[in-house]
Amino acid sequence: MLAILTKLVPLVKQLIPGLQFITYFTDSPTSQYRNKTIFYVLATHNDRFGVKAGWEYLEAGHGKGPCDGVGGATKRMAGEAVKQGKINIQGPLDFLTWAENISVSNIKYVYYDNNSYQEAKEEIDGFTVKTVAGTMSLHSVNPTDQKNQLRVRTTSCFCQNCIDGNHCAGSRLVQLKFTQKRTTQRKPTIQPTTKRKCATQRKPTTQRKATTQSKPTTQRKATTQRKATTQRKATTQRKATTQRNPTTQRKATTQRKSQGKW
Ligand SMILES: [Zn+2]
Repeated sequence: MLAILTKLVPLVKQLIPGLQFITYFTDSPTSQYRNKTIFYVLATHNDRFGVKAGWEYLEAGHGKGPCDGVGGATKRMAGEAVKQGKINIQGPLDFLTWAENISVSNIKYVYYDNNSYQEAKEEIDGFTVKTVAGTMSLHSVNPTDQKNQLRVRTTSCFCQNCIDGNHCAGSRLVQLKFTQKRTTQRKPTIQPTTKRKCATQRKPTTQRKATTQSKPTTQRKATTQRKATTQRKATTQRKATTQRNPTTQRKATTQRKSQGKW
């Protein structure tokens, strides 16, 4: 949506010089429009586009309007033209060229490519926005004069107060909280976790050492044959331990080394 607004708002501003406020009307799917990301866009709309904006959400099942008809008609006409063999549409650019040429009314088509979406996505991904309580029941979200503050309602209202931006009863104020995510600075915070892992790996080795050393001592008191056996066992066990030791130490060192790289 941010990608679309980035191209749409300058066009609207061009069409209406002196534009002071934009009200968006859409249906209410939380996945598309009624969510914290859109609220964030609204809270920053004036800084971003130089014009304030509010959003009115139509009740489920009441979201169809002329806009849907425009998009639907173009797609239907394109489908018919392809069926009749009048045009070969291979991709979005073919569709755009065809639509611009056949357009009989004043419909203006704007092309959005992957780059437009990627840029918007990167910006949105860079922020963590706190969910506004009761989002699902909101039908009206408008900015206030305070930074990052929104006035929300469960029903839309277009009384003179609301149009003037003063708002009438039935609305509540919400301070939108968002923080910028740390991307490159975040990596070093992994270090303590790796260090802790390293320590727990070393512990069992020292415990194993202690057990193998104490065993031969108590067993030596018994027969000499057993002595030899246990000593041999102990030696092989000790060997095994010492052989294991360098490995874990090497592991720890490489882990530490890799941490240094972060
Ligand atoms: Zn009102």
